[in-house]
Amino acid sequence: MNGIMMDAPLLIRDILVYAEQHWPAQEILSVMPSGQLDNKSYTDIFKRCRHLANALQELGVQASDRIATLAWNDHRHVEIYFAVACSGAVCHTINPRLSEEQIHYIINHADDRWLFTAPDFVPLIEKLLPSLPRLKGVIVLSDSENIQPTALPDALDYETLLLNTSDSFIWPDFPETTASSLCYTSGTTGHPKGVLYSHRSTVLHTLMCNQAGVVGLTSADTVMPVVPMFHVNAWGVPYTATLAGARLVLPGPHMGNGELLQRLIEEEQVTVAFGVPTIWLALVHYLEESGKRIDSLQRIYTGGTACPRHIMEILLNRYGVRTIHLWGMTELSPLGTMNMAAFRPDLDTDNSLDLLRKQGRSVFGLEMRLKDDDGLPVEQNGTDPGRLFVRGYATCSGYYRNEGLDSEDHPPTHDGDGWLDTGDIGTIDEDGYLQITDRAKDVIKSGGEWISSIELENLAMGHPDIVEAAVIACPDEQWQERPLLVAVRKTKDSPSAKELGEWYQNKLPDWMHPDRIVFVEELPHTATGKVKKSQLRNELEQLLAQ
Ligand code: ADP
Repeated sequence: MNGIMMDAPLLIRDILVYAEQHWPAQEILSVMPSGQLDNKSYTDIFKRCRHLANALQELGVQASDRIATLAWNDHRHVEIYFAVACSGAVCHTINPRLSEEQIHYIINHADDRWLFTAPDFVPLIEKLLPSLPRLKGVIVLSDSENIQPTALPDALDYETLLLNTSDSFIWPDFPETTASSLCYTSGTTGHPKGVLYSHRSTVLHTLMCNQAGVVGLTSADTVMPVVPMFHVNAWGVPYTATLAGARLVLPGPHMGNGELLQRLIEEEQVTVAFGVPTIWLALVHYLEESGKRIDSLQRIYTGGTACPRHIMEILLNRYGVRTIHLWGMTELSPLGTMNMAAFRPDLDTDNSLDLLRKQGRSVFGLEMRLKDDDGLPVEQNGTDPGRLFVRGYATCSGYYRNEGLDSEDHPPTHDGDGWLDTGDIGTIDEDGYLQITDRAKDVIKSGGEWISSIELENLAMGHPDIVEAAVIACPDEQWQERPLLVAVRKTKDSPSAKELGEWYQNKLPDWMHPDRIVFVEELPHTATGKVKKSQLRNELEQLLAQ
């Protein structure tokens, strides 16, 4: 027997309409390419969304057409997110840090029809355009005064496009399973894979994120997503923050700049921020150098890679900011877990850091389970590692136009029961706290035991003179694999490899310590700021020859 309730579809349009009705005067501030701060109310933004929806119609955009963006975090990108999806088309955010070949590949693979691009990427598109046969046109995110001369045929500027349209638009109805946005994983090997979100998964993800015990934003918050809007919908913040009626501060193109972030936090009284650990490292460096403060900031949500303990410690002890660990992936929209202990009043800060460093408990709407190499369940005792499988309301069930893409280069896929293989290795303790110990391809298998590369890296980065560290497996006749630590030092000669080796004593069992330590000037990074271990593995011989 069915319940007798309305079957209202879950549509992103409802977030837009609710936010416009309930928080009309709330602000969205954006750092524009000129460096100036633009200030618009929700009323302005959603009115501009209706202009844009009309403009899309005039351009001939059809339901389900993919509309691409190569853009930074600013109000225009928010407008595109909402107007494209709510008109029934698909907003395909492209990560401009991908290689030229990858950008070319995904525009064609997604079959993008129109592209909205920040002025910075116009030269790249001029170069790629001849081999993008299906792209109908390009809109430059600029106004008519500031648009630079371009070789792009009939390039339009965004403000002129909006100017000549009506501000009234009736958002269409369609099923909640309709695709809303598309995001490709960065794909450190092989081609990137497309995750195609739906209206339903996006609305559910927004509700999953914004529970009081999770991200819990309100209209009293000023929220700064330093996670780019071209990467997994900026962790869903543009939806979560607008539904909550929060004030948004969008940092524009210079997101890794500690000075800019401090200034925005202080001047705009930011209360909650989101970003990967590298961002917080840059902010902490700037704070320590300048002696400046970030007193309004209450909490930082960090994810993407494990957050080193010392960053959490400095932010908490010197600046009173709680760093809250999230784990997720593009395939999960992206939120999977949050460290809910962050809100426990009974934890004393020093001892609690061990718990706070864990990636956290699954959010409502996501289930997790661990399996061993034989596919058997692994006990959730906080010590036995296993391969993490998940399923949930906002988890992908496959990849966009995936034909022929299943290969060794694309490990995360689904098991026989439809659970997603995350490709991550971790432990889950009795209280349900997940700790990621590795990517499956990065774990070091030494004599039948697994050594966590993340654990070794975090310890190295806790050394006061180490900036960054990565651990990869080194083939070993006796043990199969042993850890090699590749580290970047603050100064040229110190610490020595011997001194850094001694740093591990009494911190981990001896057999887990790195066998070899080498120093490099810098580590290679992926388009999403993670250390590119595949490159280090390819360079293993040169590294060992040092
Ligand atoms: P990419 O950055 O490769 O495009 P994702 O952003 O989807 O793709 O990356 C997801 C992966 O990032 C996860 O599977 C996990 O390995 C890693 N990751 C995400 N958050 C954390 C975290 N808090 N701690 C450790 N690893 C994390």
